Amino acid sequence: MKILKNNYTIAVVNLENRSIINIEPSAEMREHIGGAAVNALLMEKYSQHDPLVLGTGPLTGGFAPASCLMVASFCTQDPYTETKKICHVPVTIKSGPLLKLSGMDYVVFLGQAAKSLVIYIENGSIRMDLAENLEGLDIPGAVKQLKLKGMQEAALITGPDAKASQGHHTASTGVFGGFDRCGLAGNMAAKNIRAVVLGGGKKMAFAAEDLTAERVLTAKIQKQLPRNRFLTILGKLPDADGAKALAKKYFRHSHACYHCPVGCINFLRYPADTTHVSKGQESAQGVFVMDHDGFAALCHKRPKDAHILMGKAMALGLDPFVLSEEIDSNTPLDSAMTQLESIVKTKMPDRVKKIRYLNDGICAAVYHLFGGALPQIIPPQNKEIFGSWEERVAFAMIVGVCPIPLLGMQALSPLALLPFITRDHTSHEGLMRRLEKGIQLLLNR
Ligand code: SF4
Repeated sequence: MKILKNNYTIAVVNLENRSIINIEPSAEMREHIGGAAVNALLMEKYSQHDPLVLGTGPLTGGFAPASCLMVASFCTQDPYTETKKICHVPVTIKSGPLLKLSGMDYVVFLGQAAKSLVIYIENGSIRMDLAENLEGLDIPGAVKQLKLKGMQEAALITGPDAKASQGHHTASTGVFGGFDRCGLAGNMAAKNIRAVVLGGGKKMAFAAEDLTAERVLTAKIQKQLPRNRFLTILGKLPDADGAKALAKKYFRHSHACYHCPVGCINFLRYPADTTHVSKGQESAQGVFVMDHDGFAALCHKRPKDAHILMGKAMALGLDPFVLSEEIDSNTPLDSAMTQLESIVKTKMPDRVKKIRYLNDGICAAVYHLFGGALPQIIPPQNKEIFGSWEERVAFAMIVGVCPIPLLGMQALSPLALLPFITRDHTSHEGLMRRLEKGIQLLLNR
């Protein structure tokens, strides 16, 4: 069974006059498989209207492992070349499946809303409500408020002050944080979008053979997982000894996104006596660490309490990596928490150019265009197709799976995923050509 669609559902939302239309994909979009490649074409089509595009790939929401991906694409200043570039931020948890289950493959937002909005996408329709009731609330507080209104999932949300200091901020997937170190939060704030909420409501078709294929592939991936689950991704990062030590001490359990056998998200508990929890998060026992690189950077500065500071930073929608650059290592925790509250309002228009390190084979500008926060794990060198870090990430962002297992798990490779796209072997060659074209498009080659 083929799951490559000839048609996508594309909604275009004009934030200025609050109108919504559906458009047909162009022949070029159909040729480009999906995900970030189609997002890039939609960005091009609407380039005069400052678009923000949310999109899914052909595997999103199906039975392929880690098929949780939604890609958020927008245009921003590339700090390396100082030119305008399209960035594609991976958004995980269950954002991609919920967008599809809401009846949309792609949603394009144009222009700026006059007032701060919450966008609800559900059951084939899109609704825009004023975000007045979220004003001043940190992310756990705002998520709690949205849940009271029956929300399923906040796929994207920013902190309360993202507009005031865009350079410090990061867009969060609910309370889990995310992989935005390239300005998505700032782009949302400039558009006056406080949150995008996905409700699902529709059904999705899948191939019966995918169930068996998923079981086999998942078993292979699970065999490669470390016994100590907190090391699944942290264990593969260089220069992360402080983060490993802190995670070992406070690790409670691991958490996984939709259909992900890897479950790389570490839940770290706070010490029993901590009083440093955020508004709306009073019952929180700890913090979800999905941005391992940001956590490792913070642990360098604050090896004893980085997880508490990370929880606070995530609640305020602050980028833990940027904080690690600004916070002192010797300040007592109470003062450091106060420092965070003042940083959140400090104007810092440009993104920080620095990255913690850059592995051989990864170009800084490409790392930035895929969010700037994915782990720099060089995939196993087994002569597989799309074998470099850059090609693997681009492939994942097109087909709609989380890039992390494709980087760190030998059992999960582009070839292992092809049968989930089509079992018609005669079409594999054409499919590979189309994927290659999409990857070239994303990497600007
Ligand atoms: S690898 Fe981590 S971030 Fe990616 S889908 Fe799995 S749990 Fe989520």
